Amino acid sequence: MLATKNYKFWFCTGSQDLYGDECLANVAEHSKIIVAKLNESGVLPFEVVWKPTLITNELIRKTFNEANMDEECAGVITWMHTFSPAKSWILGLQEYRKPLLHLHTQFNEEIPYDTIDMDFMNENQSAHGDREYGHIVTRMGIERKVIVGHWADINVQERIASWMRTAIGVIESSHIRVMRIADNMRNVAVTEGDKVEAHLKFGWEIDAYPVNEINESVAAVSDADTNALVEEYYSKYDILLEGRDPEEFKKHVAVQAKIELGFERFLEEKNYHAIVTHFGDLGALQQLPGLAIQRLMEKGYGFGGEGDWKTAAMVRLMKIMTQGVKNAKGTSFMEDYTYNFVKGKEGILQAHMLEVCPTIADGPISIKCQPLSMGDREDPTRLVFTSKEGHGIACSLIDLGNRFRLIINDVNCVKNEKPMPKLPVATNFWVPEPNLYTGAEAWILAGGAHHTAFSYDLTAEQMGDWAAAMGIEAVYIDKDTTIRQFKNELMWNSVVYR
Ligand code: MN
Repeated sequence: MLATKNYKFWFCTGSQDLYGDECLANVAEHSKIIVAKLNESGVLPFEVVWKPTLITNELIRKTFNEANMDEECAGVITWMHTFSPAKSWILGLQEYRKPLLHLHTQFNEEIPYDTIDMDFMNENQSAHGDREYGHIVTRMGIERKVIVGHWADINVQERIASWMRTAIGVIESSHIRVMRIADNMRNVAVTEGDKVEAHLKFGWEIDAYPVNEINESVAAVSDADTNALVEEYYSKYDILLEGRDPEEFKKHVAVQAKIELGFERFLEEKNYHAIVTHFGDLGALQQLPGLAIQRLMEKGYGFGGEGDWKTAAMVRLMKIMTQGVKNAKGTSFMEDYTYNFVKGKEGILQAHMLEVCPTIADGPISIKCQPLSMGDREDPTRLVFTSKEGHGIACSLIDLGNRFRLIINDVNCVKNEKPMPKLPVATNFWVPEPNLYTGAEAWILAGGAHHTAFSYDLTAEQMGDWAAAMGIEAVYIDKDTTIRQFKNELMWNSVVYR
């Protein structure tokens, strides 16, 4: 489900023909070596492709347009080895539409003190040429990433790797299709939003289907297919009967297996990548999709509860951005539920009615069957687990009426202090940065939702860069946040983004 293209990034080195053929041959040789070493490093998640040195307006324009047209090209990395007069870049940059990285590096790590002369200086003047190039990109108001340092430095390579994932998020955002099988929960504000504006800004297609149309797909799933999936569940998860009759329990599990298969087939057939449900509008469905939605999220689908298409799209986006992360810890839809205000143990218990993605689970995963306190359907089965420890980010995309704002909070997940044997849902427990008091105060001042898209495998920088590429406001709540500064930031941003 997560499969994306075999993306590549183009490496374009800038220069000019003032320096003579020998110098240009060295420029090309150096950039080829950098590309080869970057690819050999094993640090980058995607391949870098060397392109011939850009020395004229015509070639720059042609190369950027080829990058636009190449379906596998997810971005261009630019570097000025020598001085490259920046007016030559105007037309190409004007027409370029994909993510742009300005790698401010140079071939040599150290100044060659014993041999350095003016020929060396003229051939190796990135410090000079990259400033000329940076100027025109700034003057043109083009959003780009600037990474500074020697190309062999692991920190530089890791920053390039991190940016590549943001670039994939930018490219893939325009393909996200969200299926709503119910409208927004009545009277709820924060899950609402302008779907036309979301299509314009992010490229998202958000469509509604009558719940009973997808129910027909569920009803069409054969008993054989359903039973095979139930067997898979029983082999994979612990079964917590808690006094229920084993056969009756299994029938409840089978309802979710049928929903998983029916929903997945419907989503595949219609090419959707995220799904939104609402416990109050289930048509002919026997249970609120719980286990079924959890499994779909695990497969890479985005999800939002109660009609929340913005969070559903964000969960899908963040799952794509983290695809192939080594030792990934998971990405899920989340909801702020209950606080612990005990001094020294403050934090937020995260959960949802049912739908938490098992990719974030730590340890065994169990199936439980319990009544739902809301809605009017039979007891739904759900996967229950606790989550991994460690750092993550919680993101909330809100619509302020005239614009979108992305709120990004660094959080630290810790184990629940004690088991909660009566709680029949998966949980995570996190402490927002800089602490619960300031973190939650800032979140509320920013208008953040109770629903979030959460990931252990992305950074605030990556999501903020994605927001910048989309042309929307991003605010960060992290270890450096103070309320006085944060309120000013919101006030100033309200002037900028109007
Ligand atoms: Mn909810």
